[in-house]
Amino acid sequence: MSSNKIVFLEQSKMPTHYYNVLADVPVPMDPPLHPGTKQPAGPQDLAAIFPMDLILQEVSQERFIEIPDEVRDLYRLSRPTPLIRAAILENKLDTPAKIYFKYEGANPTGSHKTNTSYAQAYYNKKAGIKRLVTETGAGQWGSALAMACKHFGMECEIFMVKVSYNQKPYRRTFMKLFGASVHASPTTITNAGRNVLAKDPDSPGSLGIAISEAIEMAVQRDDTNYSLGSVLNHVLLHQTIIGEEARLQMEMVNEYPDIVIGCVGGGSNFGGIAYPFLRDKLTGTKKNLEVIAVEPASCPTLTKGKYEYDFGDEAGMTPLLKMYTLGHDFIPPKIHAGGLRYHGAAPSISLLYNIGAIKASAYEQTEVFRAAQLFAETEGIVPAPESAHAIKEAIAQALRCKESGEAKTILFNLSGHGFLDLGSYEMYLDNQLENYTGQPEFTDAAVR
Ligand SMILES: *Cc1c(COP(=O)(O)O)cnc(C)c1O
Repeated sequence: MSSNKIVFLEQSKMPTHYYNVLADVPVPMDPPLHPGTKQPAGPQDLAAIFPMDLILQEVSQERFIEIPDEVRDLYRLSRPTPLIRAAILENKLDTPAKIYFKYEGANPTGSHKTNTSYAQAYYNKKAGIKRLVTETGAGQWGSALAMACKHFGMECEIFMVKVSYNQKPYRRTFMKLFGASVHASPTTITNAGRNVLAKDPDSPGSLGIAISEAIEMAVQRDDTNYSLGSVLNHVLLHQTIIGEEARLQMEMVNEYPDIVIGCVGGGSNFGGIAYPFLRDKLTGTKKNLEVIAVEPASCPTLTKGKYEYDFGDEAGMTPLLKMYTLGHDFIPPKIHAGGLRYHGAAPSISLLYNIGAIKASAYEQTEVFRAAQLFAETEGIVPAPESAHAIKEAIAQALRCKESGEAKTILFNLSGHGFLDLGSYEMYLDNQLENYTGQPEFTDAAVR
């Protein structure tokens, strides 16, 4: 084949606005509730840990929100990211489907996380904040925020989930290189951490615990705010730069996806790629568009969780969010897709799933790594284990097309590269990876 595989969008054509899906969601979102009074939480309840610009974005009903110049300037380090036709994978699968992916691993620090870290650091800096505190799972969010803080001259303090701290030592180094302080959570330096350790000294940690520790530290100083890498409306808003670019790139090759796929931890990269396309479904112009959120079978928030109010963190310090949840004290198994080990899903994704606007699927760790290997063999990119969940679903859809003979156009988000996850791949190659739900192993042998 001699046709082009990469669709480049010129930097001068980079989108100028984020897309706010809340403007088009057909039913109102249930508001966050104050953790103490259980009454709807207002902007002032969030002001202790977030700058007002982000709080206003959190509750905005405006359809398009302008990207500040300072943030667009940072985006130009790597954006627009390429849209790539996975032609060699298509050939290997012998499918009539066309598979496109948006490569967010091309960003500094290796994932989509910088799309929001730049924006969050910028608005905090503008509000006079000197230090940001956060949690990180696999270290992707921590790296992205550390880099953004360094750029804007702020300190950065990071609680890294202990299992990932041990599994991914180079991510620690990466964060420290940008000047951040990194703690293995649960720690003994916060009440939230000490309480967990008193019950379970060997706790592997969880994102919920790390969030509690970060918030506890953030509220102690006026010059310090908390920063969250996913879940909240403003984070998903910043990530829509992915889908807005992808829309333009698909247009450049006269394509529109039949299926859009993303993996879901808290939901930010999924919302980022999916919402700008979902707009067409919600407004009635693309009624048949299929949008699929993919999660690990061992942390099946959407597919097995309950839709109810729950805390975003383990200790119960965040506002209560209406979302699909496995319970705020759920400690997910130690799977290697650390970024997907979160008990809840973004409230906007939860609502859209609840009303049937999007679908969800779940896969086992080993079948996900097998899909990742096939992708690496064909397309040459080692994906982050998180992103490999989206690859797994894209392959499953392409194989379905092979059976039915349909030439569907599939678009998925490759949320990050896996160059710092090679320890996990080593375990996969040595047959040391476990599954955690007792379901039968990988059944679609047709993949390989
Ligand atoms: C953090 C991360 C995820 C999961 O987070 P979301 O908010 O659900 O996107 C997925 N992929 C990669 C590469 C990540 O770094």
